[in-house]
Amino acid sequence: MTIRQIQSITTSRPTLEGAGVHLRRAFGFGNTADYDPFLLLDDFRGDDPAMFKAGFPWHPHRGIETITYMLEGTVEHQDSLGNKGIIGPGDVQWMTAGSGIIHQEMPLPGKDGRMGGFQLWANLPANQKMMEPRYRDVRANEIPEVALPGGGCARVIAGVAEGVKGPVGELVILPEYLDIRLPAGARFQHTIPEDHHSACYIIDGYGDFSPDDPRQAGNHDLVLYGKGTEMQVQAGVNGVRFLLINGKPLGEPIAWYGPIVMNTQEEIQLAMRELRNDTFIKNGGKQWRENQ
Ligand code: FE
Repeated sequence: MTIRQIQSITTSRPTLEGAGVHLRRAFGFGNTADYDPFLLLDDFRGDDPAMFKAGFPWHPHRGIETITYMLEGTVEHQDSLGNKGIIGPGDVQWMTAGSGIIHQEMPLPGKDGRMGGFQLWANLPANQKMMEPRYRDVRANEIPEVALPGGGCARVIAGVAEGVKGPVGELVILPEYLDIRLPAGARFQHTIPEDHHSACYIIDGYGDFSPDDPRQAGNHDLVLYGKGTEMQVQAGVNGVRFLLINGKPLGEPIAWYGPIVMNTQEEIQLAMRELRNDTFIKNGGKQWRENQ
C-alpha cells in the first residue's frame, strides 16, 4: 500500500457556457492528460436564477459520455433520440454521445431560486467513439447511500464503495464516481488501482486530502492526486463534502472542438462537415428536426 500524494490543488474557474450560463470549471481547459479518461468537470451551483436562465439550447456531442449529477433545481432535457424528461435533486443523467447526439439542457432553479449540479465528461476510447448513442436517467432513489466505517456516508453513482455498487455501471471507461460526506474529524480511506487517475472536487467544508500534506482544500477546490493506491482524507472541524472520481487512463491522442472530442483533426473536420450537411445524426434525429 502506498498513500496517494496530492499532485496539485486548484480552484474552479468562473466560465461562461451554453447560451450564457455562468458556471465554474474545475478542469477541462488546457492540458487535460492528468485527468484522462475524464475531460471536464463543470460546477453549476448558484442562487441567482439569472446565472442559468439562458441554458444550453440544441447542441451536438460526439465521442464522449456526459454525466450530470443534480443537487438542487431541475434540468429539462430533450435529445435527437426522442428522449425528453426532467432530472431533479439527487438524480443523475448519463448520456453516451457516441457517433452523435444533438440535445438541449435547460436548467430551472427550484422555488427558492437555487440551482446546483455538476457535469462530468468521460472520454470514449477510439474504437468506441462512433458507437450507437444511448441515454439513461437514474433517479435519486436508485443511487445507494452507504455508511462509511470512519464516519459519514457515500452516495455511489458509479463504481464501488464498501462493497456497494453504483447504478451507472455500463460506462465504457468504468470510472468511479462517489459523493462523500464526512462529519467533523471523520477519516475516509479508499483504495484506488495504481494506474488510475483520481481527483476530488470539494463542494462543502474543509479537509486534509493526504496525511502528510499541510494544505487543506475547501469548497470549489480540486485536489488532483499523483501515484499511489490508498487515498486518505481527514475532515476538518465543520466536516467536508466532496466528489471523488477515478478512472483508468485511455492514453490516446485528443482532438477537441467544443462539445466534440475525437482523436484526430480529420475526425473533427468530418464532424463539422456532417453538421453542415445534416448527416451528423446517425440514428433518427426526428425530435431535433421537429424543433428546428
Ligand atoms: Fe450537452
